[in-house]
Amino acid sequence: MSMVDLDKIISLCKRRGFIFQGSDQYGGLQGTWDYGPLGTELKNNVKRAWWRRMVYERDDMEGLDCAILMNRLVLKYSGHEETFSDPMVDCRKCKRRFRADQIDAAEKCQEGGTHDLTEPRPFNLMFKTTVGPVADDNNIAYLRPETAQGIFINFKNVLDSTNRKLPFGIAQIGKAYRNEITPKNFIFRVREFEQMEIEFFVKPGTDDDWHARWVDERYNWYIGLGIRPENLRKYPQKKEELAHYAKATTDILYRFFPERPDENRQYDEVEGVANRTDFDLTCHTKGGKLVLKDGREIPNEHAVNRLTWFDHETNQHLLPYVIEPSAGVDRATLAFLMDAYHEEQVKDDTRVVLRLHPELAPIKVAVLPLKKNHDGIVSIAKEVKNMLQKKCGWRSVYDDTAGIGKLYRRQDEVGTPFCLTVDFQTLEDKTVTVRDRDTMAQVRIAIADLPQYLADKLGTA
Ligand code: ATP
Repeated sequence: MSMVDLDKIISLCKRRGFIFQGSDQYGGLQGTWDYGPLGTELKNNVKRAWWRRMVYERDDMEGLDCAILMNRLVLKYSGHEETFSDPMVDCRKCKRRFRADQIDAAEKCQEGGTHDLTEPRPFNLMFKTTVGPVADDNNIAYLRPETAQGIFINFKNVLDSTNRKLPFGIAQIGKAYRNEITPKNFIFRVREFEQMEIEFFVKPGTDDDWHARWVDERYNWYIGLGIRPENLRKYPQKKEELAHYAKATTDILYRFFPERPDENRQYDEVEGVANRTDFDLTCHTKGGKLVLKDGREIPNEHAVNRLTWFDHETNQHLLPYVIEPSAGVDRATLAFLMDAYHEEQVKDDTRVVLRLHPELAPIKVAVLPLKKNHDGIVSIAKEVKNMLQKKCGWRSVYDDTAGIGKLYRRQDEVGTPFCLTVDFQTLEDKTVTVRDRDTMAQVRIAIADLPQYLADKLGTA
């Protein structure tokens, strides 16, 4: 099976305006990327597809959108201040820093030989800043390292304002920041990224069952949007790999690195689905406590609300258990791009085609005039484009800057499911040709029938 490597994707992304190096104009800023015109559409479509399946197509979900800047106390009682760190090592020769669990002992040092590494020490990944005009220790705040904490601390607000009962979930999409020691592999590991997270609150005792259901639900979301099953794996973490607060975690792995000889190393995490028990609500509830890995307990002396739910069946206040499916928007976007990328031989030519699911495709329809200097053809083509974009709501483009063959290839390369061609026959019978990206087959369709025809094919009927 043919698989694409990252270099090809990076070059396509830059050339066609999916993704650029962050701060490119000034030489870049490591670990940041800017989404260009097509990347913005694609990423928005990924988020929309998630929101639609996870929130709108269920009855048990609410949405939330929390601030990125967070009171220091949130990250103190969540345990992040104490423990959100990666092991860092320095090379005594070249002075570079690495993540201890990621550096290859055999890697060459630029000063010669292999690296001469120090013992690992913890490096906290949170970005710290100060809030307000006075910069001192009393005004420290953090950029959130995950969207999850905002959900936990708003549990009571959401409960009180919606009258939800267990089980129910809260979904959030938003930016998160981690000062990764070594950002690398394009948008796989960056310092500013986006997450799509759910905290699903359940009664203790039903948590194992809900965990299993969420693992399947999330795995199927990727498959439903076109990821090939052979490139996606469920990896239940072994006991010794689990975070101390997790009862179980299953990672969903995508084959981001097909070029690696060791098959197991080809797959890496796109999402984690964890059973976090009542750990987080216990940390943040009034009178609760943070229990650290080494057994130390930090009593919560600041929280204002009890984060409990009143169970009318048993007449008891209980702390719900939490199942957390936590996905990276950027990693998911990369997985969809990689999985969609195909090169195929068409006559003497190599055709690059992104077989993106229509729901994810950045542009749904391209309208192409067969003659760019014929007023009649051009004006119909522009009208059709406007109708599809404004009335039907599909991102559409008009392009007349090359011959038709080249225009088709351009759209194939960015995954546009349909190209419409306006030609001389259009002037006579008000039909256009519709070319399918995947089969390259063409049919003639009346302009008046386009909205329905395309809606059926795009799955938005
Ligand atoms: P890793 O082990 O790769 O550092 P993690 O286990 O720390 O990741 P989580 O804290 O579980 O990651 O975050 C949930 C999801 O957020 C990940 O599955 C991933 O998709 C995304 N994510 C986390 N860190 C980054 C990052 N630095 N860049 C891009 N996406 C990230």
